Amino acid sequence: MKILIISDVHANVVALETVLKATQDIEFDDIWSLGDVVGYGPKPCECVDLVREIAPNVSIIGNHDWAAIGRLDLEDFNPVAKYASYWTTMKLGVGHLNYLESLPNRMIEDDWTIVHGSPQHPVWEYVYNARIAAINFGFYDTRICFLGHTHIQLYITEESAKSNIQPKQPSDGQVIDVGEERIIINPGSVGQPRDGDPRAGCAIFDTEQMTVTFRRIPYDIKLTQQQLREEGLPESLILRLSMGV
Ligand code: ZN
Repeated sequence: MKILIISDVHANVVALETVLKATQDIEFDDIWSLGDVVGYGPKPCECVDLVREIAPNVSIIGNHDWAAIGRLDLEDFNPVAKYASYWTTMKLGVGHLNYLESLPNRMIEDDWTIVHGSPQHPVWEYVYNARIAAINFGFYDTRICFLGHTHIQLYITEESAKSNIQPKQPSDGQVIDVGEERIIINPGSVGQPRDGDPRAGCAIFDTEQMTVTFRRIPYDIKLTQQQLREEGLPESLILRLSMGV
């Protein structure tokens, strides 16, 4: 099976459509979404509709999806995220809200666990260093864990985490072997990358070869920025997309 793994689309439909187009030559058997379909971006309805269509089997809830359906106290968000979250809720229709409401916070497929944040705290926790990864290897039983939330592509094996060797950040097109060790993998963010590279991030999981290929795909950032302006969303959300922060 070949699986396209997307995460943190954040209502950036231009980025999502570009990722799908750029990978259309690969015959995917499935597409998995690791959460945060909405929040920050200008096209929440379009992104929910598209993710619902392309990722019917594995789609996980993220903290911003929770916020949009009112399951999160927005006092934990910074003012910009809070404003964008209110705006998102007002935009979404009942069907979109019901879809987000229906999403699980963890799924197990074969030998793979799929969450948004971390196995320990599926919606909230950021896995960004060896210490937090080391703790989290104890909170799931499968061999591989796919997670998002940090908006940074990375991978870390259990052995590295326990030796306090920090997660590795892959380059575009890098293929890693995932055939043996327990490993945590983050495909990065489609709609709001935060590692200084503004290109959309995603990963391709090949379950026969047991490899994961990391991809970075340029998209029309200016178009998304124009859509944000048209919706009157905060300038900081517009600027960060060009910088990938
Ligand atoms: Zn996110």
